[in-house]
Amino acid sequence: GPREPVEINTLLKEMYEIVADYRVLRHVRPVWELSPTPLYTLGIRTRLEQVILNLLINAGEAMGGKGKLHLRSGRKDHRIFFEVQDTGPGIPPEILPRIFEPFFTTKREGKGTGLGLAISQSIVKQHGGHLEAHNPPEGGALFRVWLPELAENE
Ligand code: ADP
Ligand code: MG
Repeated sequence: GPREPVEINTLLKEMYEIVADYRVLRHVRPVWELSPTPLYTLGIRTRLEQVILNLLINAGEAMGGKGKLHLRSGRKDHRIFFEVQDTGPGIPPEILPRIFEPFFTTKREGKGTGLGLAISQSIVKQHGGHLEAHNPPEGGALFRVWLPELAENE
C-alpha cells in the first residue's frame, strides 16, 4: 500500500469502534487518554489498522472479555506513541522474551495463531518504529507503539 499521512488518534477511535461489539470486548470499558492534538505519521493505513486490531483483540482475550482498557497516545521528541493497557493477568515473565516470535501462542489449540504480535512488530519496524511490551506495576499488560512523527511542514 502507499504511504500517506495517518492520524493516529482517529485511527485508534475508528478501530475501537469496529471491535467494540466483538464478544471479547463487548463488556470492556475503554478509558481514553489521547493527546489533545493530532498525531501524524507517514504510513500504510491498512497495516497500522492491523497493528491496532491485533493489540485490541489480544487485550480483550487476556481480560476474558471484561475489564478496563486504557487507550493512550502522545508525542516525545520527534516520535509519537500510542498504547493499549489492559486489566488482565499481564504477560508471564517467562514468556515475555518469546511473545514476538512467529507462531508463539499460549492460547488453546485452534484459538491463536501466534502471528498477531510477530506481524505487528514487523509492520511497526517497517514504519521506522518499535513495539514494546510491559507489565506495569499496577497490573495488566501494556503494549506501546512508537512511530516517527510526520511534522506539519513535511
Ligand atoms: P495469539 O493471540 O494468536 O496467541 P499473538 O502473537 O497475538 O498470538 O500473542 C502471542 C502471545 O502473547 C499470546 O498467546 C499471549 O500469551 C501473549 N499476549 C499477547 N497479548 C497479551 C496481553 N494483552 N496480555 C497477556 N498476554 C498477552
Ligand atoms: Mg493475537
